[in-house]
Amino acid sequence: MEYVEHVVDLVGNTPLVKLGSLTEGLSPLVLAKVEYLNPGGSVKDRIALRMIEAAERSGELKPGGTIVEPTSGNTGVGLALVAQRRGYKCVFVCPDKVSEDKRNVLKAYGAEVVVCPTAVAPEHPDSYYNVSDRLVREIPGAWKPNQYSNPENPASHYHSTGPELWRQTEGRITHFVAGVGTGGTISGTGKYLKEVSGGRVQVIGADPEGSVYSGGSGRPYLVEGVGEDFWPDAYDRSICDEIIAVSDGHSFDITRRLAREEGLLVGGSCGMAAAAALRLAERCGPDDVIVVLLPDGGRGYLSKVFNDTWMSTYGFLPPAAGTTVGDVLR
Ligand code: PMP
Repeated sequence: MEYVEHVVDLVGNTPLVKLGSLTEGLSPLVLAKVEYLNPGGSVKDRIALRMIEAAERSGELKPGGTIVEPTSGNTGVGLALVAQRRGYKCVFVCPDKVSEDKRNVLKAYGAEVVVCPTAVAPEHPDSYYNVSDRLVREIPGAWKPNQYSNPENPASHYHSTGPELWRQTEGRITHFVAGVGTGGTISGTGKYLKEVSGGRVQVIGADPEGSVYSGGSGRPYLVEGVGEDFWPDAYDRSICDEIIAVSDGHSFDITRRLAREEGLLVGGSCGMAAAAALRLAERCGPDDVIVVLLPDGGRGYLSKVFNDTWMSTYGFLPPAAGTTVGDVLR
């Protein structure tokens, strides 16, 4: 019989899918690393597993303990999956810009969710960083993985994502593109690919316009899960060769095209990363192999990027998008 003991055993080893339609007229091969095919639906399953295993080994997380983390959803799902398997409780702190659908997913896995305002500075007592610190102090047996400073976050990518990409491309990868949130994905994967290729692989970060990584001041943007208003420890500043800033509008346009033209229903940060990869592809040659990592699926964003009314409200779509079947039947 062919089965695994638990879905957690299915974390990693995600496939590469060629972006064909979106790259029409461009010469390099552009491949997407499809991370929504992880069991929790995102790249964050990788870091959750490694951070929890390390905390068990170090004794920071004890049997029956509670995992407390500020998370935009995906890390929470990964942590909740692993926690469920190993008998830990989870309390997650989310900024209010995170969709209700995403919060309900966390609750479905058995976690408790605390919501905080997005529009306050990180040092404000109600910021989601500070609320989670308070919860850690007040809940007995609490442990905070802290994906922003935990070295196991980039390490998980150094030991899984990086080697997978090298193996899957048979060492032919020339460029790696990923969005930067905590910086774990780009720093760990990028470090491995630099080392194994003798510095040949170029590492390109994608960042929402306004975020610190591309020189912004941290002003608000709508793409979720990427960009920061501070410099996390998980981000290794020596790895990226270049950062490409992408607007919300362009990110969402490419996100919708990924679903419509490539059959990849993915989140807004995926469109952002793919937009950066396409911009890069315009100046690359036929021997180049660009891999762009798509962190999560699109189901958590149905009421935003995939909702025409929401898109029009923010000016990303014209108000009347032509004659539809609905218009004809009305
Ligand atoms: N996209 C989404 C949807 C995310 O949740 C995250 C993680 N915050 C990222 C991209 C960025 O990944 P990383 O934290 O490894 O930089």
